[in-house]
Amino acid sequence: MSYTITPLLVGVRNVDQGIMTYQQGYGKRIWLPMWAFLLQEKGGEGRTIIVDTGLDDFINPPEFTEDTGLEALYMDDALAQHGLTVDDIDAVINTHLHDDHCGNNPMFEGKPVYVQRTELECCQHPHPLDYRYEPSFIEDLDIHPVDGDAELFPGISVMATPGHTPGVQAVKVETDDGPVVITGMCCNFSNFPNNGPAVCPGVHFNAFNAYDEIQKLKALRDEGVTILPLHELSLAGKVYG
Ligand SMILES: [Zn+2]
Repeated sequence: MSYTITPLLVGVRNVDQGIMTYQQGYGKRIWLPMWAFLLQEKGGEGRTIIVDTGLDDFINPPEFTEDTGLEALYMDDALAQHGLTVDDIDAVINTHLHDDHCGNNPMFEGKPVYVQRTELECCQHPHPLDYRYEPSFIEDLDIHPVDGDAELFPGISVMATPGHTPGVQAVKVETDDGPVVITGMCCNFSNFPNNGPAVCPGVHFNAFNAYDEIQKLKALRDEGVTILPLHELSLAGKVYG
């Protein structure tokens, strides 16, 4: 089975790079994109799947468009650019349940939503320190809890990578150009320097685990697997596979 992957820009924030790279890059402002990844199966069942749904509060600062020539779109409009509506989506996979990755989940009521069971528990009973969880984003949805690594569909599997959050999962997708891994943890290409180890995500539940898990992603990249960091701006305009 083979898919194409199209990153849809459904929001953007202006933040400090240190949010991505633990103890590195502080003081550097960056545009932080929020992607919903559109997976479209070639042949087979012709499945259409969304990985992450962006922030419910739509954000597109005018300065972002001036700086980059890019424009974030509402989820509806982003899908429409590809001739799709919410009804065409067969399933949603959430890498994790921070608000910038599941804020538009309520639009997909009635669709199966795949998320790690551990992450569901975090979202339903959030620690006060982690303000990014909002239980209403997963209410009244057809949630399919996943326990650890699993194949969800032919050609699409998830890998538990705890550290950024307890239940974060990376998503591995087969394409005509080989496997592509959507990181699951919040990072950008600055987390993957050409020399030396990968840099731990700046936001984490357990920095040691997050460090270990991002080394595994870097090892995949070193083997030739394409890695798509969740908040990498240079994914704009690309189609993978
Ligand atoms: Zn994020």
